[in-house]
Amino acid sequence: MTQNFTATPAPAARVNPPPPIAANDLKSVVNGVVIHYHEIALKLGNRRFFEMQLRRNILRATNHLGVKDVLRLSGRMLCLFSSSVDEEKVIAALQKVFGIAYFAPAVKLAQEVPAIKAVALNLLAGKKITSFKVETKRSQKHFPITSPQLNAEVGEHILNHFPIRVDLHQPEVILRIEIVDNYALMYTDRLEGPGGLPVGTSERAVCLISGGIDSPVAAYKMMKRGIKLIFVHFHSAPFTNAASQRNVERLVELLNSYQFRSKLYLVPFAEIQQHIVAKAAPSYRVLLYRRVMLRMAEIIAAQNHAYALVTGENVAQVASQTLVNMNVINQVATLPVLRPLAGDDKQEIIAMARRLGTFEISTEPFEDCCSLFVPPHPETRAKLPIVQEFENKLDLPALVAQTLQKTELKLIRI
Ligand code: ATP
Ligand code: MG
Repeated sequence: MTQNFTATPAPAARVNPPPPIAANDLKSVVNGVVIHYHEIALKLGNRRFFEMQLRRNILRATNHLGVKDVLRLSGRMLCLFSSSVDEEKVIAALQKVFGIAYFAPAVKLAQEVPAIKAVALNLLAGKKITSFKVETKRSQKHFPITSPQLNAEVGEHILNHFPIRVDLHQPEVILRIEIVDNYALMYTDRLEGPGGLPVGTSERAVCLISGGIDSPVAAYKMMKRGIKLIFVHFHSAPFTNAASQRNVERLVELLNSYQFRSKLYLVPFAEIQQHIVAKAAPSYRVLLYRRVMLRMAEIIAAQNHAYALVTGENVAQVASQTLVNMNVINQVATLPVLRPLAGDDKQEIIAMARRLGTFEISTEPFEDCCSLFVPPHPETRAKLPIVQEFENKLDLPALVAQTLQKTELKLIRI
């Protein structure tokens, strides 16, 4: 990795292949990553706000990996490496920054044609290809020659040095040149970003996370829409073990790599469950648990200026997820309850959990608070008056207040 952020032109010798800066080693000339985002995202709001949040998130994701700055250039960003950067780690981190459409390890150099030609040879040197094409984008209109002219000049220079041909329709490699602000950016290999919107551009929501497969996937989908999540987990210690709680922490640590800083509230739920078990019909237990969970999640939402709740509910997956029951559960919520998985098939959810890396954690042996004291035949068509009658036997406000006082807050950092 070079420390010099402007690549030095290679000697103009007409040999084949040319004496490269470092043959077959793109890393020796790459000094940053050019980052593109979808224009459509910009239309949703204020462009500057969107770009500033994206820049902040890129820095949070990569700062500790040796990225020294992120420049906002017209319509794209440039992540500048320090000399010690581990390029592969930076690439992996950028693949988790929502808002990035695609990105590419790139060379930043002066807007000078000889330098551009030299870097072109270096970017192609060592590649086993038979065809190429040069594609220039010029957002700096003061540059003295047009994009087609630059394509032709650089293309000809390449043809003079390598035994390859130009293919405008199906080239094996596209050499991209972007003339922006005061620089030329050059690269060949584009990588796909995760898409979506930068986390933090769409306000906050509280996500109810169990140790199961669904809720981490639901969390991912909402973060992808730019929502910053606050996580809440209800556990039944001492009836459930510490390993189960640790699994939830691991899930949040994994999800945190998309939003860089997370709060996880660990709510001790066993006492409330015991009261419910003592006062309510067994078939109504899970429903009553859920209603209390939503009430507590709303209080945590208010404390964190969050404007929605997120769950991993999925229509008809289990008894508590019939529309009748969801309706009864929902009655306690004043905030919108977002259920991003409502209409997904379990197989689709599992596939996404595997891609995310949460599936392995979610399928480890787990003791769930809701599987405690659960009868074999839960009610699928709960009646609100019956639910309310059970709840009236409990001193819910006091129980909720006591439980929140005993709630533990963990701060998770990248
Ligand atoms: P998951 O795989 O996310 O556990 P599930 O299919 O097992 O979902 P349920 O157990 O009915 O479904 O839970 C529905 C939703 O309620 C969960 O996706 C989650 O959002 C919330 N939830 C359930 N249990 C808990 C818990 N212990 N702590 C926090 N949220 C929970
Ligand atoms: Mg569950």
